[in-house]
Amino acid sequence: MPVNIKAKLIEKSKLKSDTFKFTVSTKEIADTARPGQFLEIRVSDNIDPFLRRPISIYDINKENSTVTFIFQVKGKGTEILSNKNIGDDIDVLGPLGFGAFNLADYKNISIIGGGIGVFPLHELAKVACKNAKVNTYLGFRSKDFVVCEEEFAKVSQKLVITTDDGSYANNGFAINYLIEDLDKNKADCIYACGPLPMLKAVQKLAIERNIPCQISLEEKMGCGIGACLGCAVKTSASPADAPQYVHVCKAGPVFDASYVEL
Ligand SMILES: Cc1cc2nc3c(=O)[nH]c(=O)nc-3n(C[C@H](O)[C@H](O)[C@H](O)COP(=O)(O)OP(=O)(O)OC[C@H]3O[C@@H](n4cnc5c(N)ncnc54)[C@H](O)[C@@H]3O)c2cc1C
Repeated sequence: MPVNIKAKLIEKSKLKSDTFKFTVSTKEIADTARPGQFLEIRVSDNIDPFLRRPISIYDINKENSTVTFIFQVKGKGTEILSNKNIGDDIDVLGPLGFGAFNLADYKNISIIGGGIGVFPLHELAKVACKNAKVNTYLGFRSKDFVVCEEEFAKVSQKLVITTDDGSYANNGFAINYLIEDLDKNKADCIYACGPLPMLKAVQKLAIERNIPCQISLEEKMGCGIGACLGCAVKTSASPADAPQYVHVCKAGPVFDASYVEL
């Protein structure tokens, strides 16, 4: 069950000029959160911005009762959040999301992420690497956007970093490196989170190769609890004349790739 609490900010670091890593103390959420779930954060007591902002859980530390999230400053909400200081209370609702990543008993998994979509994949890789071989492929626009490389290296047997412009590590899209490896070794499951074009390509690849695939959608959302209907996605099996929708915040954010129409 999600809880709404004031969680104390106990660690704050600036990873890039616009990217912040926050660790908050919250036993209630740390105890129950699963990889792929997210928080809805109310960044201010003022009326504006009224809506909470969804941010994925990057790391769960049950021993220390902490949860870490990383966010990029995009607009007013994340700007206000970035100005919080250690010791401040942060109004957090979570853990949210019914569909967390399901690790089943897979022994050889591939994880692919892009941009801000890499953040929910860290906890997944951390848990998965205890029992499975984890190959991780992370794509960024350019060198300036590469984050968390060392952290992902610690939780992956193989880590491939790519930049679209070749300014750092491997040149091109992360999916091309995933495809190269899949040609040699089929994965038991692919997990993905990132920009829509990447997710569409991963979905197509997984369906073509008959590989189970779970994707996390970072759809724009309002309430985070299924009340505002802001984050509806069409299910792929729904008939054209009677489309059926599910809410990313409630049914997701993680879905079986064959279940949703992107
Ligand atoms: C389930 C979920 C998990 C997320 N996890 C993370 C995370 O771990 N780290 C992180 O940095 N961001 C994450 N996001 C995106 C984050 O919620 C938005 O960037 C944030 O809400 C923007 O708020 P703002 O007030 O700063 O910007 P706004 O003023 O609301 O918007 C500024 C700009 O960002 C765009 N924007 C707003 N929401 C989104 C979105 N969901 N996706 C893409 N662009 C958006 C707007 O179109 C606008 O151009 C996640 C989103 C969802 C739905």
